[in-house]
Amino acid sequence: MSAHNSDGAWELPHEFRQMQTTARRFMRERIVPAEAPLPHDAYALPDDVLKPLQEEARRLGFWNVESPAEWGGAGLNLLGQAIVAEESSQCKMGLYIAACHAFGWDPPNAIFLGRKDQIEKYAVPALNAGSKTFVAISEASGGSDPGRAIKTRAEKKGDRYILNGTKIWISGVGQSDWGLVFARTGPSKGRDGVTSFIVEKKFKGFSYKPIPVIRSYFPYEINFEDCEVPEENVLGPVGQGYKIAIETLNEGRIGIGAQMIGVAQGALSATIAYLSERKQFGKSLSEFQGIQFQVAQAATELEAARLMVYNASRLKDAGRDIAREGAMAKLLSSQVCERVTSLCVELFGGYGYTKDYPVEKYYRDAKIGAIYEGTSNMQLQTIAKAILRDS
Ligand SMILES: Cc1cc2nc3c(=O)[nH]c(=O)nc-3n(C[C@H](O)[C@H](O)[C@H](O)COP(=O)(O)OP(=O)(O)OC[C@H]3O[C@@H](n4cnc5c(N)ncnc54)[C@H](O)[C@@H]3O)c2cc1C
Repeated sequence: MSAHNSDGAWELPHEFRQMQTTARRFMRERIVPAEAPLPHDAYALPDDVLKPLQEEARRLGFWNVESPAEWGGAGLNLLGQAIVAEESSQCKMGLYIAACHAFGWDPPNAIFLGRKDQIEKYAVPALNAGSKTFVAISEASGGSDPGRAIKTRAEKKGDRYILNGTKIWISGVGQSDWGLVFARTGPSKGRDGVTSFIVEKKFKGFSYKPIPVIRSYFPYEINFEDCEVPEENVLGPVGQGYKIAIETLNEGRIGIGAQMIGVAQGALSATIAYLSERKQFGKSLSEFQGIQFQVAQAATELEAARLMVYNASRLKDAGRDIAREGAMAKLLSSQVCERVTSLCVELFGGYGYTKDYPVEKYYRDAKIGAIYEGTSNMQLQTIAKAILRDS
């Protein structure tokens, strides 16, 4: 189906608009009310509430939207994934638990670069159960240049690798059974010396502990102490782990951008509703032009970021390299998310600073967009390289 309207302008194709409407309705009618009775900082629905919602989501085609259909995912292209991510992040825990976990939990897309037996052993059960998995790249030595900073070592001994080292900031370890770990094999200290491993939490020598952060859903530190990983758990060629990590991150940037838009939109929608209710000087706040202009500015910036995310997605779906467009989309959407959520807190006045309304949480959550999966400076570095190379 054409993505151009009768004037020749690009617009969201019909089937994507339908998908957006369905996801939006599901979020508003099923997820937001299910989450409402939970504490402000909760990050899990009770099982008896979650299970029926997961069944509904499967029927609607939203089960593991990023994973290939041949292995049990919904197999959406990147534009479809972005549209769903924008909606599924619009609940209080939505930035890190999409749709409160009703849409499953895609395993890292790099697992599908693995052998058939690896996919069947690890990815398929995770997809069926909708269970969490982790990706461990970052270390205390630095996350911005992981190809060089990784110090965790994997030494080959017979038919196993012995891992020693520490990873930090790793999301979801506590909730996962397995994940991908990037460790140094061989003498190289550069990007060519990193290999990717599928590591089960129950492997001997694996331990982990939480790292308290600004939000309740915390990441973890993982310690490998002579952790034994069978040789068959090497993912992809030995020494090619950095390439695998970068592939994971490039597409991830679009997802983060879409989530940032969702969070900003969630905050703005809640604020617009509040502005009509709240009265000062005998009028609704929404009647003051000063406030209207601030809301109009926020909505305009948000639309610009949204279009950049859609554009990067559709270019990637068309087979184009999107290093530059993906970096621009993540950079702008995380900046806009911070600005919009900050304004929303302000427009709620003192109430915006409390845990009685969702905007306080959206504001705290917004900050991470400029840090993980490549900081804002790293996005600028990618954009600058592309611009200077092309000029
Ligand atoms: C909540 C949370 C969840 C996370 N989840 C995961 C996960 O699941 N898996 C994982 O592997 N990692 C994860 N991370 C780690 C995250 O990806 C890193 O924190 C991030 O990449 C930055 O690395 P760093 O913290 O070492 O900062 P550094 O690399 O030390 O950077 C510090 C500052 O210096 C800037 N900087 C660095 N180099 C340059 C340069 N050349 N030019 C200009 N500025 C520069 C950076 O932009 C940043 O502002 C998570 C982090 C958090 C906080």
